[in-house]
Amino acid sequence: MLKRPLEIKDHVVLGPMTSYRIGGPAKYYARPRDREALEGVLAWARQEELPLQVLGGGSNVLVSDRGYDGLILHLQGYQHHYQNPSPDGLWQVSSGIMLMEWVRRAARLGLSGAEALIGIPGTIGGGVRMNAGAFNVEVGHLVRSVDVIHLDWDLSNHNLQPERIPAEKIGFGYRETPGLAGMIILSAIFQLAPGDPQISLKQLRNILATRQGKQPLDWPSCGSVFRRPVGDYAGRLIETAGLKGHILGGAQVSPKHANFIINKGGATAADVLALIKLIKQRVKETHGVELQREVVMIGFAQDEVVGT
Ligand SMILES: Cc1cc2nc3c(=O)[nH]c(=O)nc-3n(C[C@H](O)[C@H](O)[C@H](O)COP(=O)(O)OP(=O)(O)OC[C@H]3O[C@@H](n4cnc5c(N)ncnc54)[C@H](O)[C@@H]3O)c2cc1C
Repeated sequence: MLKRPLEIKDHVVLGPMTSYRIGGPAKYYARPRDREALEGVLAWARQEELPLQVLGGGSNVLVSDRGYDGLILHLQGYQHHYQNPSPDGLWQVSSGIMLMEWVRRAARLGLSGAEALIGIPGTIGGGVRMNAGAFNVEVGHLVRSVDVIHLDWDLSNHNLQPERIPAEKIGFGYRETPGLAGMIILSAIFQLAPGDPQISLKQLRNILATRQGKQPLDWPSCGSVFRRPVGDYAGRLIETAGLKGHILGGAQVSPKHANFIINKGGATAADVLALIKLIKQRVKETHGVELQREVVMIGFAQDEVVGT
């Protein structure tokens, strides 16, 4: 029998770890900072047969008001130290590092390619898993390979070796990475190109200003709630369905960008969920379009998320 690692805490409220500032407690919670701690937590979770959910920066999740009845493995800050990029622009970066922090560092070092990703909150791990993107650049465009641990790895194998998955096997698609399902992302190897720090840094400033002008960044949110439908924009469909600014409890369809649902203060997950359902229904009635959710739901029962 393995002893319970000290890193594992009970009943930790998750709301403050999400960009929505919404969500109840995790039954168990761990935030390992290195491989040894991570392996200890995983081994114990397997022994106890706990359901496990990885959390990165919490910027694309909605956590239920009841919380999560299992172990939340929080990887923001995991292995927070930088390796040096190779002279030809290959760079292995840990999943726990914040995406924006890395994008800035790359620009300062004169490595180009990631500038368009500035302004996307969250970690490298979350960015890779979601294949986050903006301004026609996706994280997956820059990834060469990803190091992972399989969630169902053999417990008798104490010398746990991560697997390196080449980008071609991940199936990077629009906000999806089917080849990474059921895996814990430890790090990714990116390919950047030589660039000019002054040009890259100027690009970062311009992109951040553009985002500030278009997005309700002063309010807690998860960014875009729905994926972009083919040939249209979710925000336009929601606005023309008459829901821009619509309030339900503490949640509101942002008056600035209708694909953002913002927490105006004291919003519950139930408020946001009800608004998601209302939007889907109205857009379907008005435009005949079935919007697909982008935000990841944590701790909800299957029947609660039907119709979202
Ligand atoms: C203001 C705002 C603006 C945004 N703008 C954009 C945008 O322009 N483009 C865009 O694509 N997204 C955007 N987002 C959404 C979000 O920032 C991205 O999806 C981000 O990449 C999520 O990273 P995260 O670390 O916060 O992941 P989380 O929200 O913590 O998790 C998201 C998913 O990734 C999984 N995950 C996280 N880390 C790991 C890991 N190490 N191993 C395995 N699985 C993992 C989680 O289990 C979960 O399924 C925005 C969000 C906000 C709040």
